[in-house]
Amino acid sequence: GSGAIYDRMCELVKENPDVEVHFGPEIAHGDGEIGIKKSGCHGFCEMGPLMRIEPQGILYTKVQVEDCEAIFHRTIEKGEPIRHLLFKQDGIEYQKQEDIPFYKKQTRNVLKNCGHIDSEHIEEYFSTGGYQALEKVLFHMKPEDVIQEITEANLRGRGGGGFQTGYKWSQVARQAEKERYVVCNGDEGDPGAFMDRSIMEGDPHKMIEGMMIAAYAVGASQGYIYVRAEYPLAISRLKLAIAQAEECGLLGDDILGTGFSFHLHINRGAGAFVCGEGSALTASIEGSRGMPRVKPPRTVEQGLFGKPTVLNNVETFANVPMIISEGAEWFKSIGPENSPGTKAFALTGSVKHTGLIEVPMGTTLREVIYDIGGGIKGDGEFKAVQIGGPSGGCLITPHLDVNLDFDSLKKMGAMIGSGGLVVMDDRTCMVEVARFFMNFTQNESCGKCVPCREGTKRMLEILERIVAGNGKLEDLDLLEELATTITETALCGLGKSAALPVVSTLKLFRDEYVEHVVEKK
Ligand code: SF4
Repeated sequence: GSGAIYDRMCELVKENPDVEVHFGPEIAHGDGEIGIKKSGCHGFCEMGPLMRIEPQGILYTKVQVEDCEAIFHRTIEKGEPIRHLLFKQDGIEYQKQEDIPFYKKQTRNVLKNCGHIDSEHIEEYFSTGGYQALEKVLFHMKPEDVIQEITEANLRGRGGGGFQTGYKWSQVARQAEKERYVVCNGDEGDPGAFMDRSIMEGDPHKMIEGMMIAAYAVGASQGYIYVRAEYPLAISRLKLAIAQAEECGLLGDDILGTGFSFHLHINRGAGAFVCGEGSALTASIEGSRGMPRVKPPRTVEQGLFGKPTVLNNVETFANVPMIISEGAEWFKSIGPENSPGTKAFALTGSVKHTGLIEVPMGTTLREVIYDIGGGIKGDGEFKAVQIGGPSGGCLITPHLDVNLDFDSLKKMGAMIGSGGLVVMDDRTCMVEVARFFMNFTQNESCGKCVPCREGTKRMLEILERIVAGNGKLEDLDLLEELATTITETALCGLGKSAALPVVSTLKLFRDEYVEHVVEKK
């Protein structure tokens, strides 16, 4: 009955001020049934709570409980749009979600289902073609064909390193040891990053299907998803997704009668940033303290429980079913040759429209900030963007037309990282930004090796005294010297990249450091 639907609408909006709520595709005017559905994140965080009306595709923004009655009686029953709930930009009013500039320049492949399906029901994933890629590999492809397809697609790891996924899988497949593991890194720890969280919450089956395809390709029968405990919704949806896949015979022994068996487990991480490092992550799953170890041996040779292990992140696995279904050529047709496909970014900071976006690799920073993000918030001017989280670097105005892909950013001394983009305007103090990131990294240093444990502490002390107005010009040289030592001698990626935000800001904004030291004398 419509009364119950209306009550549920109000309830969802009230309970979920920070998530989107939309109506199901089964909606029909007149004598049809009306459905209501709670979906995962739709990405337009700035404008939530969102409500999407199907089949028209109308997107309502900043919906309040008081709006529900009008939405129900005017839009659903009579098809009339409610103007104050429509998104407006530069004097233009947008009814359809797909026409809104924030969405128009995006290519949502990995995030296609996020915000459109109810991720708590496996049938919804089936209705989008879900698990057909698994069926294809199980019934029509040999494991080596799967690896060949992923290699040809040139899928590079979305977790930061940009390593060739197909090559990694082939390394595991060729090990003499037959007991192998597939592990998903969902330990997203960069400040301001929430790409993996949205995928795990909004479309968990896509990632799980990617892991199952990897397991078939390398001959693994056990898999682990390592998720940070601060993501309780992601954990509960993954648990539910695993249980539903098991119930449908898609996980477990002798899957679909093919003889292929795969069991999936969830491991909750306690939120240590260093557990994003492969060897610390596997140590944590094994029940040891999450500390990196010296390599070699590499994870592909001796990873989890000392066995060959495929370790990829959430977004990388979520790309796999699409590559299998659509083919490597389709994947390579998106983005530049050396970094094909799309990349999800968490766009935050001083930009008008913050949120979760997905664009073809090679899209420029200018397109992301101005076309999708709507430009700089308030009266400020663009000053810099921190890309790649604490392990990344700064990009400034001359870099606005740089392509966002692995190789172009490397040339600039920056990195995509996992996809955090923190935009800063001309009111931002870059010394304070460097201090913030150093404080974060210093807190997260596991303490195993001296250069990182002690070096980051000393760098933080220097930055704190500069910010407090007690710094000296010599401190800048000392910062550079410490940065070089830590980068060259730290054991793992966290330490090796810990000084990057300082090095990057010192290079691009040295005058600000000098002003702090000189002015406050
Ligand atoms: Fe631990 Fe830092 Fe050494 Fe990595 S570099 S092992 S985080 S102390």
